[in-house]
Amino acid sequence: MNSYTGNKRSNTYKKKKGRSKTGKSDRKRIFKNRYILIGAAVLLILTVVLGVRSCMTDGTYHVDVDASEPELDVQLLDVNPYSRPGINTDDITGVVIHYTANPGSSAQENRDYFNSLQYSQGTQASSNFIVGLEGEIIQCVPTWEVAYASNERNSDTVSIEVCHPDESGKFTQETYSSLVQLTAWLCVKFGLTEDDVIRHYDVTGKICPKFFVEDEDAWTEFKENVGKAIDKTV
Ligand SMILES: [Zn+2]
Repeated sequence: MNSYTGNKRSNTYKKKKGRSKTGKSDRKRIFKNRYILIGAAVLLILTVVLGVRSCMTDGTYHVDVDASEPELDVQLLDVNPYSRPGINTDDITGVVIHYTANPGSSAQENRDYFNSLQYSQGTQASSNFIVGLEGEIIQCVPTWEVAYASNERNSDTVSIEVCHPDESGKFTQETYSSLVQLTAWLCVKFGLTEDDVIRHYDVTGKICPKFFVEDEDAWTEFKENVGKAIDKTV
């Protein structure tokens, strides 16, 4: 009870004032709680929306490249019959994408493997370019020379071998970005479009590159990204 013992009016006044004060702070508290609830609801909705979005975009890559010449680490193979025959190509009419099928191997290891074939003399294999796990690009064979990568299309295409971290054959973000830029640059260089970009699979039916053969949407999206990169430049 109110212990105020002054005159009635003043007591009433105080009481009223007191009640009114309490009412205000209650309302404030209610408003505060409401804001907290609204804030929590907004946070929850955002979490759900972002979560769903990240699930939906899982497996796709962020690409922000154009068709300018990427940084190339030129380490040409020795001219030899097993990986660099030194034969000039015909006119280039396509770019062929491959994967190394050797999980975790680096661009440098693959380049050195190609160069070592002149000594082991058992296999003929190479490619014009190798894109590594960190997005680095090694050039092994000049674009006007034949590389041994794409069977009957060796003489009229440029080949790109792509490194991958595991058995799935999926590329890292860095690898993917570099691959888009390199492919787009080659297209512009040879007057081609993204429609002239093919998989080894399209030449021989070989599951290469695995990721782009098993996931047709990923392949379509890759070509679209190449097209966008070309559009940014020409
Ligand atoms: Zn291949």
